[in-house]
Amino acid sequence: MLPFKLVYSDAYYLPIGEHVFPAEKYRRIRDRLLATGVAEASDFLEPQPTTDQDILLVHKPEYLHKLKTGTLSPREEMELEVPYSRELVEAFWLAAGGSILAARHALSDGVGISIGGGFHHAFPDHGEGFCMIHDVAVAIRRLQRDGKIRNAMTVDCDVHQGNGTAAIFAGPRTTGEPLPSVGPGTRSSDLSGKMRGAQAGAVFAISLHQHNNYPAWKPPSSIDVDLPDGVRDDDYLAWLDNAVSSGLRQFEPDLLCYIAGADPYREDQLGGLSLTIEGLKKRDELVFRVARARNIPVMVTFAGGYAQKVEDTVTIHCNTVIAAKAVASGR
Ligand SMILES: [Zn+2]
Repeated sequence: MLPFKLVYSDAYYLPIGEHVFPAEKYRRIRDRLLATGVAEASDFLEPQPTTDQDILLVHKPEYLHKLKTGTLSPREEMELEVPYSRELVEAFWLAAGGSILAARHALSDGVGISIGGGFHHAFPDHGEGFCMIHDVAVAIRRLQRDGKIRNAMTVDCDVHQGNGTAAIFAGPRTTGEPLPSVGPGTRSSDLSGKMRGAQAGAVFAISLHQHNNYPAWKPPSSIDVDLPDGVRDDDYLAWLDNAVSSGLRQFEPDLLCYIAGADPYREDQLGGLSLTIEGLKKRDELVFRVARARNIPVMVTFAGGYAQKVEDTVTIHCNTVIAAKAVASGR
């Protein structure tokens, strides 16, 4: 039995037909975790869809209305890059409910993992890049509203920048101390501007991503690490370590939301970095280790993953659970 919960529903499946996003990955991850004995049936929790009220903690009423009534404009639907349907709306409400549940369990168990979510390209007033609703932001705002957390940090390791996260939380933003990073837009810490015991409601957003990739416009996160094409395991891990350490020197989060995209993988169809499956597992271990050393609860969502072989995407996501288990049990 795992020392934490996995949040999953068969209804996480996104009804988007033939698509580069392998919507069946969620079920396959669950099946693999059970088949390999990493998890037992009792480790899984079934989420409930979140409420409109929770969605409105992040999203604009006009956007929610369009989603509920099926009145997105053709342009808005094109930007979403997945075909609109009533069922798709339900799947995103469920993903947000799953992230809330995972975050609650992170607070009690140290870790909580949703086998889904991570829709970091959703903005308050529109969706894009396969993301209709920002489930992680909804979870953060709901837990803040409930008084369970004051602040949070997002650590986004999807190959694509977390533009929705940056737009929703818009700061605290810092510049100054150089990170071992390249490219324009790289932001880092300013040790003179520490945010220890940061103001209630604050969310510190870290994003490590490929610079030459979607989204073209990258609104500033608290720390953006714009990676050049083809970055390999060792460099990636050094950048990640530096970014997270830098963030935690400035900000003490009550919850760390880890967006564990599988798409920095070298065989990803939508990514241009060169991480191996083993390197991605080390990435996960690094995040869990740093958080555990500081007693920061970690909520995990899975975000993107478009490997040529869906099996590889499934392996990378399963390894995140294995890494969490290893770190939680002190190995
Ligand atoms: Zn991605």
